[in-house]
Amino acid sequence: MPDGAPRVLRGALFFGGGGMDAFISVRDLHYRYGNAGESIEALRGVSLNIVRGEYLAIVGPNGSGKSTLAKCLSGLLSPSSGDVRVNGASTRDAAALVGIRATVGMVLQNPDNQFVTSSVEDEVAFGPENLGVPPAEIRRRVASAIERVGMCGQELRDPHLLSSGEKARLAVAAMLAMEPQCLVLDEATATLDPRSRGSLLALLTQLYSAGMTIITVTHHMTEVTRAKRVVVMERGQIALTGAPAEVFARDDALKGYGLALPPAAAVERGLARRGLELGRDVVTAEELVRRVVALWEGEG
Ligand code: ADP
Repeated sequence: MPDGAPRVLRGALFFGGGGMDAFISVRDLHYRYGNAGESIEALRGVSLNIVRGEYLAIVGPNGSGKSTLAKCLSGLLSPSSGDVRVNGASTRDAAALVGIRATVGMVLQNPDNQFVTSSVEDEVAFGPENLGVPPAEIRRRVASAIERVGMCGQELRDPHLLSSGEKARLAVAAMLAMEPQCLVLDEATATLDPRSRGSLLALLTQLYSAGMTIITVTHHMTEVTRAKRVVVMERGQIALTGAPAEVFARDDALKGYGLALPPAAAVERGLARRGLELGRDVVTAEELVRRVVALWEGEG
């Protein structure tokens, strides 16, 4: 679709008018593992619009369908029924899949399984090579992606011998080299130490600030506070969605799903029970401290 195409036409053609401006549009998505005799319905009617440049966190108890949803969003799994569209192209359309997977890059929890070459630079070059990108452009992309994830000087190392944090950053670099519009991360920080986790999250924030769409599956509630929108999954469906403060305001519902509040919101609730009201919209430690200091100053 040319850039100058009328928006109404774009919406009508690709989203039936209902999902205009959606970058990724999910309609009544069902996903079933196994065969008819013995099968598990991992997703049961998920509908969701993701606009370009969003930072979305997907949370939920184990087995709620987060990972399956992430794989459907990036075209790694094709819906059993319903529809996932990326820039208007359906992930059911085999001819569109190469483009979809280059547009939406997926980073898994154990990127080891994703690595297919024996050096960092070959690993980063692998994706664009498969897309048929010319060699000079591949070299430019490889250098740029390695620089963006802070791995200059490590080009010749064996991916399998890197630390967990380095592997995660290499997996991101391998995706960046395909110049995706979106990164989907499935528990990518789960096995990282706090320092490596911090460095990966800082990188995601940087990419988000540069306009990339970030979708992250995580069970770290502190990470969720970085997102602009949260989707809470439960038994294959979306149970709650909203800005982090809106979702965390539903502490009883979250408890029911076995999810904890991030520490700052938990402290805010504890203080409120003791009569010190800082505001339900506190979700980060920085905001908590700012409100306490403002209160202190107000009394001084
Ligand atoms: P989450 O990421 O929230 O832990 P998943 O999407 O991994 O949830 O799993 C959702 C459901 O699908 C679970 O019941 C899980 O056991 C099942 N499931 C996931 N992967 C497979 C698979 N490869 N084969 C069969 N069942 C699966």
